[in-house]
Amino acid sequence: MSDYKAPIRDMQFVLNDLAGMIEVAHLPGCEDVTADLVDQILEQNGKFASEVLAPLNHAGDEEGSKWANGEVKTPRGFKEAYQQFVEGGWNALQFPAEYGGQGLPKLLAAPVMEMWKSANLSFSLCPLLTTGAVEALMLCGTEQQKKVYLPKMVEGRWTGTMNLTEPQAGSDLALVRAKAVKEGDHYLISGQKIFITYGEHDMAENIVHLVLARTADAPEGVRGISLFVVPKFLPNADGTPGKRNNVQCASIEHKLGIHASPTAVLVYDNATGYLVGEENHGLGYMFIMMNAARFAVGLEGLAIAERAYQQALAYAKDRVQSRDLAGGAKSVTIIHHPDVRRMLMSMKAQTEAMRALAYVVAAMLDRAHRHKEKEERARAQAFVDFMIPIVKGWSTETGIEVASTGIQVHGGVGFIEETGAAQHLRDARITTIYEGTTGIQANDLVGRKLAREGGATAKEVIKAMRRVEAELGVAKSDDLAAIRAAFSAAVTAAEECVAWIGINYTNDIKAVHAGAVPFLRLMGIVCGGWQMARAALVAQGRLAEGKGDKSFYQAKIKTARFYADHLLTQAPALRNAIVHGAVGVLALSEEQF
Ligand SMILES: Cc1cc2nc3c(=O)[nH]c(=O)nc-3n(C[C@H](O)[C@H](O)[C@H](O)COP(=O)(O)OP(=O)(O)OC[C@H]3O[C@@H](n4cnc5c(N)ncnc54)[C@H](O)[C@@H]3O)c2cc1C
Repeated sequence: MSDYKAPIRDMQFVLNDLAGMIEVAHLPGCEDVTADLVDQILEQNGKFASEVLAPLNHAGDEEGSKWANGEVKTPRGFKEAYQQFVEGGWNALQFPAEYGGQGLPKLLAAPVMEMWKSANLSFSLCPLLTTGAVEALMLCGTEQQKKVYLPKMVEGRWTGTMNLTEPQAGSDLALVRAKAVKEGDHYLISGQKIFITYGEHDMAENIVHLVLARTADAPEGVRGISLFVVPKFLPNADGTPGKRNNVQCASIEHKLGIHASPTAVLVYDNATGYLVGEENHGLGYMFIMMNAARFAVGLEGLAIAERAYQQALAYAKDRVQSRDLAGGAKSVTIIHHPDVRRMLMSMKAQTEAMRALAYVVAAMLDRAHRHKEKEERARAQAFVDFMIPIVKGWSTETGIEVASTGIQVHGGVGFIEETGAAQHLRDARITTIYEGTTGIQANDLVGRKLAREGGATAKEVIKAMRRVEAELGVAKSDDLAAIRAAFSAAVTAAEECVAWIGINYTNDIKAVHAGAVPFLRLMGIVCGGWQMARAALVAQGRLAEGKGDKSFYQAKIKTARFYADHLLTQAPALRNAIVHGAVGVLALSEEQF
């Protein structure tokens, strides 16, 4: 079984040199964020992740959460680890001080969350859902709701859930049927919700469900959905958990992966719920949760990739098999073989690219929330909105690919459960499905995020990429010249697709959607390449100045070169699939399949 060690060196590089931690620390409310504090938090959280969470990962997978008589028992050690998590103040890190949080920026929360997810994805889902629920209540809850729920949820003593899905309503939430009947100051909620992550568990004293339901005379479709807060235990006047509410866990699912994370079927039978915000605006509020959650699920792709890479690398340095192509009588460790190196480099390069893009987006989230200039906040928000489906869709698809390559590096033992490599792939597999499938992310990207605004943000992003391309042109090095050539062709491919989508969205929408997922992949690859190119430029500068960790910077340039040669070169082929591929996608009649 592999250990997990937080990749703090690369995290610091991305935070400081690519995502602009210094600028984020100058934003209003971030004044206390010093370099020392950042390093301290990364170190301490890395220790918690590797010493407390990671050792529970494999055992948690084997044991799984168990349901009996409406209650769920999480695997051995989870409850105690969660207690330590709450006592350590980890849950409160990124929330405002007025609710008991530490008010730290999203940019710092990103590596912290990445570590939990790498160490133990199943465990990390509990705080993920709580975070989404806190964000929704902070923005749309009444003062009373904020007072009752937020301090407990920020601390982590009470956890949160997100109740959207019903048997007939998955991607299409217009089909939600759960009912809400007004009774005095509250509503009675009835219906069944399925697939609710941490919908029931034994780690916290109360569970706060945020539930989508329809009031009696609500209009059909998404315009008739309201959001309710439905606690498992109704809070007493003194804030302690009181009477048990009428929401029961009927069962939990048996799944391919994330076995320790309970996925609950919840039955609401006239449960007491309180309206959040206004009636019929529920889906809009839920999107607030979903955006935060989609970003966090994107981090899951990155985190699993990092864990799979660490495990594959350790194995490749240990496993002896076959002689070196350069000669010698004895068999060598498999890291000597070029194809194993190719696999490890593809894992490393894609993981670093995902990290760089995700943290850059996290820094823009901070600017969008905290910058003192309104225009700058709006500009940053537009960038974040455009990037969220890319971070979610591309990073999770890539996380699966990297976890699968990790198994390949192991050979046969990778397929055997004791090794642990297979768990990463099984756990990763859900990440492209929940919080909106890759297809749904891609629809969002081409529709709401691109066509609806005439491609304005996409064009700004491409302009910023062209500036990096120009910088690469000035730098004199074979590696940077090769990166520039591949990057330039990839940006052109992206630019042509943006223009093509802009033209065709109104007159041939099916053709655009036929290429939506390939376009999301193309944008992910190019955005990752953009950040890797920036990383290579920084590394080249440091080497020229003779500053810092020479080996790290040299490796960064070579990793960016690998990314350019092996990943960025895929962009022109994807462009062709997007622009010409609809014919093949849409040609057959239903009977011909
Ligand atoms: C382990 C797990 C945990 C989960 N946790 C939660 C949770 O905490 N809370 C919650 O509310 N839900 C949760 N879910 C539900 C999850 O969000 C849904 O499964 C997901 O949104 C997909 O919905 P569906 O399963 O009904 O698939 P469907 O919507 O039926 O989709 C089936 C296929 O059709 C495609 N498709 C559907 N519509 C379109 C379209 N318009 N364009 C292109 N393709 C389309 C999809 O991409 C997919 O490939 C969880 C699910 C699982 C398995």
